[in-house]
Amino acid sequence: KQLGIALLGLGDYATKQLGPALKKTSNAKLAGIITGSPDKIPTWQKEYEIPDGNIYDYKSLEKIADNKEIDVIYVVTPTALHPEFTIRALKAGKHVICEKPMAPTAEECTRMIKAAEEAKKTLQIGYRLHWDPFHLKLMQAIKTKEFGDWKSIDASDAGRMTDFTRHNAWRVNKQLGIAGALYDLGVYAVQACLYSAQEHPVRVTAKSWTDRKEEFSEVPEHWEWELEFSGGRKAKGFASYGKNGNHIRVETEKGLIQIDPAYGYSGQKGSTPEGEMPFEHVHQQKLQIEGQVKAILSGEPSKVPGEMGRRDIQVIRGIMEAAESGKPFEFGKFEY
Ligand code: NAD
Repeated sequence: KQLGIALLGLGDYATKQLGPALKKTSNAKLAGIITGSPDKIPTWQKEYEIPDGNIYDYKSLEKIADNKEIDVIYVVTPTALHPEFTIRALKAGKHVICEKPMAPTAEECTRMIKAAEEAKKTLQIGYRLHWDPFHLKLMQAIKTKEFGDWKSIDASDAGRMTDFTRHNAWRVNKQLGIAGALYDLGVYAVQACLYSAQEHPVRVTAKSWTDRKEEFSEVPEHWEWELEFSGGRKAKGFASYGKNGNHIRVETEKGLIQIDPAYGYSGQKGSTPEGEMPFEHVHQQKLQIEGQVKAILSGEPSKVPGEMGRRDIQVIRGIMEAAESGKPFEFGKFEY
């Protein structure tokens, strides 16, 4: 069976990555679109043979409840709009895949998770790297202690932004992008810290700073943090729109596991103490959507549930608090 997916928000990522991926997915297809830009409709309709009845705007989203051809709504808007669209989609009786980072605050994540529970639908986050063989190898090696315990972690996801228009405008806007690179890119570095550690952090210290004050008037340009785990082991992280960085390095008892570059759609290079990781590159988004649809169809737990998205937002908010106060932020209990 093929589930029908409707993309909500037809920006860069939906157009260049998710639409094309949905042409390749075996158990899902692009069945509809939800957009605030009527001018985009003809191109999408033609490219994906979408019937008139499966096209919605943001105002008419609720009508999708009656559409049997659409099973899943995939939310691909700026971060601050994820909660509202996700909750409306769930209330309309659709499963939701929500892009990363899940929401501005952990409280909003909780509202989204509750809405999914009430609607008896699944809520999953678009964490594509959970289907990438290089990252899967890293997770597995730590879980099985293939190279012993980990000793230290260093993760960095950063890229120098020079064009501040179009889809970068909301990223440096506090209301829509919240904390700039920390949310957009930092969520990958935070995720990598957590799946390398395979445990929850106890506290974090952090700092943020800005070199280009004119362009970054609302959100800091650079973020740096250090997560501390029980027993005192540490994970360093970095996210920035001003500098470059793209790696995860994990020092283990038997040597280094690393992926560098790590976070792109392809191009990963990885190694373990035993040598290079021998993997072919995969189509991450195709495998991600197929995996997420499989979880929906089988009723089995998702690898990337809303609860995981919320945990990451909790860590990101801790980083923000620590940077703001200049003091360590102590994490409370994590539910995931
Ligand atoms: P984009 O700006 O290109 O697209 C955003 C879309 O949201 C546009 O179609 C825009 O019209 C729509 N939108 C609706 N309301 C809006 C508003 N008030 N202001 C601005 N745009 C509005 O951004 P993008 O790069 O496609 O990112 C969209 C989402 O996808 C973000 O959550 C981002 O983090 C995520 N993303 C994920 C990956 C990944 O690798 N998983 C990669 C890129 C982006």
